[in-house]
Amino acid sequence: MLYTSTRDKSLRVEASEAITRGISEDGGLFVPVDIPTLSLQDLQDMIPLSYIERAKKVLSLYLTDFTPEEIDSCVSGAYAPGKFSSEKVAPLVTLDDRTEVLELFRGPTCAFKDMALQLLPYLLTTASKKAAPDKEIVILVATSGDTGKAALEGFKDVPGTRILVFYPKDGVSPMQQLQMATQEGENVSVCAIRGNFDDAQSGVKTIFTDRAVAEKLSENGLMFSSANSINWGRLVPQIVYYCSAYADLLEKGKVAPGEPMNVVVPTGNFGNILAAYYAKRMGVPVKTLLCASNANNVLTDFLTTGTYDRNRTFYTTMSPSMDILISSNLERLLFHLSGEDDAAVRTWMDALAKTGKYTVTDDVFAKIKETFAAGFADDPTVSGVIRKTYEEEGYLSDTHTGVAITVYRDYTAKTGDTTETVIAATASPYKFSKSVLIALDGSAPELPEFEMAGVLCEKTGIPVPAPLSNLKDKTVRFSADCAVDEMEQQVYDMLRI
Ligand SMILES: *Cc1c(COP(=O)(O)O)cnc(C)c1O
Repeated sequence: MLYTSTRDKSLRVEASEAITRGISEDGGLFVPVDIPTLSLQDLQDMIPLSYIERAKKVLSLYLTDFTPEEIDSCVSGAYAPGKFSSEKVAPLVTLDDRTEVLELFRGPTCAFKDMALQLLPYLLTTASKKAAPDKEIVILVATSGDTGKAALEGFKDVPGTRILVFYPKDGVSPMQQLQMATQEGENVSVCAIRGNFDDAQSGVKTIFTDRAVAEKLSENGLMFSSANSINWGRLVPQIVYYCSAYADLLEKGKVAPGEPMNVVVPTGNFGNILAAYYAKRMGVPVKTLLCASNANNVLTDFLTTGTYDRNRTFYTTMSPSMDILISSNLERLLFHLSGEDDAAVRTWMDALAKTGKYTVTDDVFAKIKETFAAGFADDPTVSGVIRKTYEEEGYLSDTHTGVAITVYRDYTAKTGDTTETVIAATASPYKFSKSVLIALDGSAPELPEFEMAGVLCEKTGIPVPAPLSNLKDKTVRFSADCAVDEMEQQVYDMLRI
């Protein structure tokens, strides 16, 4: 199994190189040359297996230059018993008779990013031993909140790695900020930037692809790699839980073997939903992928018109991890749907960089419509649905998952589609306690975020996850901020080079 670049399909690299480098030198993203398949029998055979065993099965199809022992040790380390608060790692919880919630937030930072970022450090250190044996890895992360913390937790004190995280100063929740500011570990740094998430992400991408910066690092025995969702090592762990969810639906008798499911994903950078697309391409019976957005509805417009246009107002919403106007992973979907037309991808991405806008061909748009549906919801509507879902189904969702539930309810009302549906739940409600309290009660007390979690717990009787309730006793270690054009200097300062 080899990988190529979305912007140069003549390129061939092994999985370990794709994971070590993070992004291709031509600015493109690494994608598998051939997408491997799972038969229905393979999926049925997964039913009695643990999450670790299911993950080994899926990963071994993609990481063919890793030995079985290496895959075993990576996966067993990442999802070891006790790291996730559910024995099933990513359990399915029933919402109603045709809807299941796939809880992806049971890891150490209470957001779905843990699913990938607990595994990535293992994949990356294993891969870099093959691809770049003499270099120390520098992980540079731009985060809208959850990635940063999950990456810091995943990489802290991992030998041979350093990690630097940039986040938008006013674009993350107080809980997310506290989680990052109190991060422990000898190889970690955190810096706020005065700008929004897209500024942080563009800044990181510029530093990342600058040859002079790469040379300076190299002279110091360092090399960049990425923990952002553009890294193949982030995506591949996410494919696992869609395969696993289908096995669980079979086990629960919710679908007959081969009967399709729909998948609803609250989407920002298009990583999570793209993983579901790969699962579908592998043979997991998926009918429709429903892409749910908040008021930053650039993807809703794209998936329903074929024109991507980021020239619009950027909204700060109560689902900050989805406040994104450039969804990087979409590039991978375009590559696959255009019949691997790297020239077309380059044209679209150049237009996006220059004018903020591009339109795909009728052919690509037709393929999008075959698989994807899309919708968006604003904050007041989502609040109403969070309350209703709690009151009527007894399920307390966070604000991101609330967007997905809202868009799903709209979709079924409009289409009458009764296909069994899996909704990806991406964060614990306690990560966004204030917004969730406002959704339930119409208001929230003026308290620090972690005390707000206590109020929410008293009201609902649902326990606060330990990683969040422990935060208040931790010391703040990082409080610096910088301008976007100072990011490169920050990197050198943090690395002391
Ligand atoms: C990152 C994140 C998302 C968006 O996921 P993408 O893979 O970027 O589309 C949604 N919800 C939460 C809670 C997140 O942390």
